Amino acid sequence: MSVASYNQISINNSALQHNYCLLKSRVGEDVRILAMVKADAYGHGMIEAASAFYEAGCRDFGVAEIDEGVRLRNSGMQGNIYIFLGFIASEVSLFFDYELVPVLYDIASAKVLSDEAIKRDTRISVHVKIDCGMTRLGVFPEAFDDFLSELKENPGIKLAGLASHFPKADEWESSQTLEQFKAFESVLASQEFGFQSIKHTANSGGILYFPQTHCDMVRAGIALYGYYPDGVSGREIERGDLLQPAMEFTTQVIQVKTVPAGVGVSYGHTYITETETTIAVLPVGYEDGLSRSLSNRGYVLIHGKRAKIIGRICMNLCMVDVSRMDNVKIGDRVTILGTQKDDGISGDEIAAWMGSISYEVLCLFGNNNERKCI
Ligand SMILES: *Cc1c(COP(=O)(O)O)cnc(C)c1O
Repeated sequence: MSVASYNQISINNSALQHNYCLLKSRVGEDVRILAMVKADAYGHGMIEAASAFYEAGCRDFGVAEIDEGVRLRNSGMQGNIYIFLGFIASEVSLFFDYELVPVLYDIASAKVLSDEAIKRDTRISVHVKIDCGMTRLGVFPEAFDDFLSELKENPGIKLAGLASHFPKADEWESSQTLEQFKAFESVLASQEFGFQSIKHTANSGGILYFPQTHCDMVRAGIALYGYYPDGVSGREIERGDLLQPAMEFTTQVIQVKTVPAGVGVSYGHTYITETETTIAVLPVGYEDGLSRSLSNRGYVLIHGKRAKIIGRICMNLCMVDVSRMDNVKIGDRVTILGTQKDDGISGDEIAAWMGSISYEVLCLFGNNNERKCI
């Protein structure tokens, strides 16, 4: 049984496909796009989003953990599914049963995979992550020679790809990305296998701002969902076609009340009315992804106008000031993320109020509310 919620996330599939095609036109025919669909496709729904990208031509998909890859494969998804966060040794058989591609960052997991491959009388294709300055997962360039000789002692492994990840590709003025890319290239140059395996380094920032780093494949995340990795400034400097945000978050007013000056609102009375104030109560709280840090800071749209969040955001409720609006009533549509009439509130704007980035806003909203595709 499905019961409707007041709160509704809608995902615009044609915006997702527009973004895929726009990025494809930027990287060119010869460069594959790996769609990062981790975190339930940044809140957009992993299976639905991956299907939209597949329809637009995508054949490579990235997730964090094996269970996501298994779910995606079980949905009937074809193409390559890459697991970026390694695995627990006891789960190794899933790579074979579900044809998943591990992205390796240590030799111990290579051994586990190789042994399983030999047991099954096969070989498994793996990609290897090189840490050229992210200081996260990956083998350091100076340790790579040793890593490789050890890898060669594992006959069940076939090295199919080499990857690296940039920490600052969203900063187009920074020279660091190209320096790190050089480090990646020099690791490759010293190896005879270099030309046989697929190379990939670029995230959305790399795709948009560092075309030199595109290699054979790029890993697109936030841009596929319609946002620039550097936020509003990225959108402003764009001179070509714009990425289109695909997510909207709407709810409705569930009570309206007018109180005199001097009345405290919500837990802790952190907001005291200055004059007579009309308040709309909304069934959205931090449990629905509306961060408590937006208390007394954020806005929503009602009747095409901005209403400020007043008082603390509760678990399932928040209050907004609708004093300057005519006749707000129960059931009126409220837009938390998206557009109404001539105004719009973007993930970048909400992120700025929270001191965060659009990525987090999309995950919070999308992964905590009922979604529908439009
Ligand atoms: C999430 C992720 C990406 C995508 O990053 P965006 O900035 O969202 O484009 C690319 N590569 C790796 C390894 C990632 O974890």
